[in-house]
Amino acid sequence: MRSDKLTNPKIDFYITNLIFAEIRNASDRYLLQLLIDASEISLMSPSVSSLEYVKSLALKMGNLNDLSDADLSVLALALDIKQEREVEIWSGDFDIQNVCTSLNIKYYDLLKRSITEKRSFIWRCTACKAVFQKKMDHCPECGNITFHRIVKQRSSI
Ligand SMILES: [Zn+2]
Repeated sequence: MRSDKLTNPKIDFYITNLIFAEIRNASDRYLLQLLIDASEISLMSPSVSSLEYVKSLALKMGNLNDLSDADLSVLALALDIKQEREVEIWSGDFDIQNVCTSLNIKYYDLLKRSITEKRSFIWRCTACKAVFQKKMDHCPECGNITFHRIVKQRSSI
């Protein structure tokens, strides 16, 4: 995969510790470690306050269930970096992109997949139809264990 952005010397690259830990492919890991050792990529962790903020925002938007701790670390680190400079998240994950729209963080996907609108979601119990902000192990109303994620609100981006 080639991109002008990949060879642009003016761009600084960051990766979070949790994302790095998720990379299982040995050759990918090795290559990434070389880039980190050469200071081409900075390995960082987000601040606790940004992480808490991103979690509460993702909960409000209905994206929290579909974001891993690693995904949340990317959003939180971007929020930290954004205090000082412009930042862009490289991800094809639609839940990450959706939260980016609320953080005013740009996103970029190497495969050019991107969301076309901002959405907020709620979870509806498939049995009693009660709705919740996040998916739970059991519906507190009826004990059912299956939920559907439904779009609560759409807005253009
Ligand atoms: Zn229920």
